[in-house]
Amino acid sequence: MIQIGPYQIDALETGEFALDGGAMFGVVPKPVWSRKIPVDAENRIDMRLRCLLIRNKDRVVLVDTGIGHKEDENFYTMFRVDYSRFTLEKSLAAHGLTFNDITDVILTHLHFDHAGGATQRSADGKLIPTFPNAKYYVQISNLQWAEHPTERDRASYIPHNFVPLQEAGVLTTLDGVTEIFTDIHLELCEGHTTGLQTLRITDQKTTLYYCADLVPTSVHLPLPWVMGYDLRPLVTLEEKREVLARAAKDKWILAFEHCPLMAAATIELNSKGYAVPTAVSL
Ligand SMILES: [Zn+2]
Repeated sequence: MIQIGPYQIDALETGEFALDGGAMFGVVPKPVWSRKIPVDAENRIDMRLRCLLIRNKDRVVLVDTGIGHKEDENFYTMFRVDYSRFTLEKSLAAHGLTFNDITDVILTHLHFDHAGGATQRSADGKLIPTFPNAKYYVQISNLQWAEHPTERDRASYIPHNFVPLQEAGVLTTLDGVTEIFTDIHLELCEGHTTGLQTLRITDQKTTLYYCADLVPTSVHLPLPWVMGYDLRPLVTLEEKREVLARAAKDKWILAFEHCPLMAAATIELNSKGYAVPTAVSL
């Protein structure tokens, strides 16, 4: 937990999964990336589904929702989804919270490993918002992309993760950078997908930046370590260059949504330009 201004901020573990290491590290060769992160017999690397919980006296804000529980066995096997250690429900309960307490859900983007937990199947099989009292937020450009993805990224955008939010009238679309709540700034990245929003929470003394898929793990800190999944890898490269320079200069705490090694870190840029993380617990 860290306190920034009026906000108590916690990392919330919602599950574990695994993605293909080659796809996660783009042009970086396996002998190089496999020294940095555990890899299984099917070439997949360990990953977390780590959301952010932001609370003040008025609001309980959840940032991203993990994969959720709506997919079939083949899906969970392919991505080695594992809820034996963590679930969103258990992690909220550890803070004395239930799904009913969430007032706001900020979705960084609608990829299934971020928005899958936003909806659930009710007892009678209907798809409904998981958090009955929450307003949900996403960038309009990401929603429009999710509704018409390309063949290359269609598997990442599953309509049942967001259409039920639209049908229930609880999805608010945002158009560009904004201060969504006092001192909680949403920034925009276009390299990973169209309209990815990251969060910067600051009281001028302490700044926490939730990287989402701009820097999914601490292993992705070196600038050229860009995911093969990214639609526009050279845009990601420039976005990382800018964000990591600000983070190093102003000693931001970077929070990593998918990192199996650490939840958050501060960074320094060394002579080769590579960022060296110092773990921070959240
Ligand atoms: Zn993504």
